Amino acid sequence: MKKIAIIGGGIAGLSAAWTLEKARRAGHPIQYQIYEAAGRLGGVISSEVVDGCVVEGGPDSFLTEKPAAAALCRELGIDDQLLPSNDRERKTYIVVKNRLVPLPDGLMFMVPTKLLPTAFTRLFSWPTKLRMAREFLFPPAPGKTDESVADMTRRHFGQETVDRLVSPLLSGVYGGDASQLSVRAVLPRMVAMEQSHRSLTRAMLAARKAPAPPSPSGRKPGTPRSLFTTLRGGMKLMVDGIAAQLAPGSIHLSSPVHTLHHNSEDCDDPKPPDCRFTCGWSLETSFGVERFDGVILAVPAWSAAELLRPFDRLISGLLADIPYSSSITVTMGFSADDLHILPPGFGFLVPPTEKRGMLACTFVHAKFAGRTPPDKGVLRCFLGGTNNDHLLEESDARLTEIVLKELRQILGLSAKPTFVRIARSRRAMAQYGVGHVERVQAIRDNIASLPGFALAGNAYEGIGVPDCIRTGAQAAESVLHSLREKAAAVSA
Ligand SMILES: Cc1cc2nc3c(=O)[nH]c(=O)nc-3n(C[C@H](O)[C@H](O)[C@H](O)COP(=O)(O)OP(=O)(O)OC[C@H]3O[C@@H](n4cnc5c(N)ncnc54)[C@H](O)[C@@H]3O)c2cc1C
Repeated sequence: MKKIAIIGGGIAGLSAAWTLEKARRAGHPIQYQIYEAAGRLGGVISSEVVDGCVVEGGPDSFLTEKPAAAALCRELGIDDQLLPSNDRERKTYIVVKNRLVPLPDGLMFMVPTKLLPTAFTRLFSWPTKLRMAREFLFPPAPGKTDESVADMTRRHFGQETVDRLVSPLLSGVYGGDASQLSVRAVLPRMVAMEQSHRSLTRAMLAARKAPAPPSPSGRKPGTPRSLFTTLRGGMKLMVDGIAAQLAPGSIHLSSPVHTLHHNSEDCDDPKPPDCRFTCGWSLETSFGVERFDGVILAVPAWSAAELLRPFDRLISGLLADIPYSSSITVTMGFSADDLHILPPGFGFLVPPTEKRGMLACTFVHAKFAGRTPPDKGVLRCFLGGTNNDHLLEESDARLTEIVLKELRQILGLSAKPTFVRIARSRRAMAQYGVGHVERVQAIRDNIASLPGFALAGNAYEGIGVPDCIRTGAQAAESVLHSLREKAAAVSA
């Protein structure tokens, strides 16, 4: 029987555990244990129902385009909970000098593809609009090396597009800074388009005309698909759904792993009676030391770096170089009558140039129908991010005060909330800085020498929930493969 440890009980670790559980049910001679530092599973995913409203402290949905999350829900038998975003209401605003300006129709990523909405939008000045038109005819030369998203955008469309479009989008999604984030890691499609067409506008127009590729979900071409999907009862249902399927006794909560040890000296089964560490992995928690044949590290990169430092300083250093940002969600419930002043749409983004505490605000009741009773409305506001980490130390009362003040200034909303819920996610969002793709490749190359070992989570190839589910499953497959190879080599 091979034993595999999963360190970290966020969605990546849980997805790894579920993959191992499926292998166990299929007859693989394995046992797995999952170690989570906190007193609950889910990592940044936390949902609760307050006054009949679903309140998410972490992610509130996932991109429908990425199939792993919906596929997991189907496997867990909770696909009846899948709820598409209410895309008829989809409209996003950018705050410009305290006013909400809608994103112009036809923007794909950060590229304008429709002439009239771009020409008439109040989001950009005339010099920027002319610059956008000029990009079509006289695009800049493609970049030769990785660069920041801000640098690439500036080369094509100028600084105002960075300030009013790209920075708020990236700080809203990644809590990140467009001048730091790698265009190759965050927007690889843009890099490919620049290489193929030079002009991003030309490339986007060509992509719009091309027939749609087959849908990974099997959806018929031409059928409109919602941009986001959530679970009616909360994202936590995925966490609970996996936990309910795992082998009894396999989950260890409040069990931070303090040290990880790898002994590369190989030995064959059966092991001598006094052998705890002669080969494979051992890990230490407050409850003692356990030996394993394989390990999946599904923790943030900074935590993985600490665990690997004693025996692999190179990989540890590469992991420690991945920066993280923290975020705060302040969710407020209101009476629906008080929210009639809201414009139609999913919410707004706040450019860093506006110098506010808030990065974004989602009109939850408009984004997803049926997660809020009809007589109530919910606003979910984001604070923090790369440039505002200090807000994490503010009290709940102070954060509430900041949000209410800014909602009053931006929306003219002066009503009192019926409830407030605040969630702080410390060092939770990996930031894919310039050079990230090469750094991850170096990490992957180096961990190949550690048998039965894999990494998963949001630090490597995608920050979203579906990416974490995918990397968790891949990590489990990779450890199973490595253990099978080792077993085959021993028996040969
Ligand atoms: C506020 C917020 C909103 C978001 N919104 C969205 C969204 O709408 N859509 C979307 O797709 N994505 C969203 N994301 C991103 C996405 O939710 C995360 O990237 C993803 O959930 C991370 O999962 P994970 O398992 O990699 O990490 P985590 O959830 O961080 O889990 C890692 C776990 O490892 C544990 N751990 C760490 N060190 C140790 C140790 N030594 N021993 C044992 N356990 C340890 C931690 O306690 C934690 O539970 C959001 C993220 C945040 C923070």
